[in-house]
Amino acid sequence: MKKTVLLLLWVFMCLNAPNLHAEDTGKLINNKCRANLKMLNEATAKFLAENDSGLPSWANHQTVTMSLIDRKYFAEQLVPPTRDCKYYLVSVSRDDYQWYCDLHGVLEGEKTVTFMYHEHRLMGKTTSRYGNIEKYRDHVKDMLRWTEYNPTPVEKLKYQYNMNPLTTVLLAIGGAFLLIFVYRNIT
Ligand SMILES: [Zn+2]
Repeated sequence: MKKTVLLLLWVFMCLNAPNLHAEDTGKLINNKCRANLKMLNEATAKFLAENDSGLPSWANHQTVTMSLIDRKYFAEQLVPPTRDCKYYLVSVSRDDYQWYCDLHGVLEGEKTVTFMYHEHRLMGKTTSRYGNIEKYRDHVKDMLRWTEYNPTPVEKLKYQYNMNPLTTVLLAIGGAFLLIFVYRNIT
């Protein structure tokens, strides 16, 4: 019986060994979103260089691309890395604007906030520069609510596994042995 368990565990380890590299999924999401914000900021700069138009203090991506900035200015299609990454343009003037994501905030901000978003640890940035814009304040408040998010046990396990696969697998095996040991000693 013990030999069978050990054999099974060994097979499991061998099957998983090639996949046991840590992957900070939060970082990957952050990088993708920040690349999107950079692309949007650059598109806006290009648009302003060629047009005399002013900017709205707050507008979502769809409105901006439908009625202000022609799609030709955007280098690539916008692909949000999460379904909560929603993009808005925030501006106080033609010289002071940035794109904002509901989860990641702005690209350049003096405040950094980190929080769990399901099984991913994300990082967002905010700035007080746009503090006078009510919509901006509301959206930042919504983003900060994520700091109170409590991941489910499965999300926590996924996070642990992604950050440190080997330790998580070893702990799981240790736990399995403990269960077998307890089980054998009480029956
Ligand atoms: Zn985002």
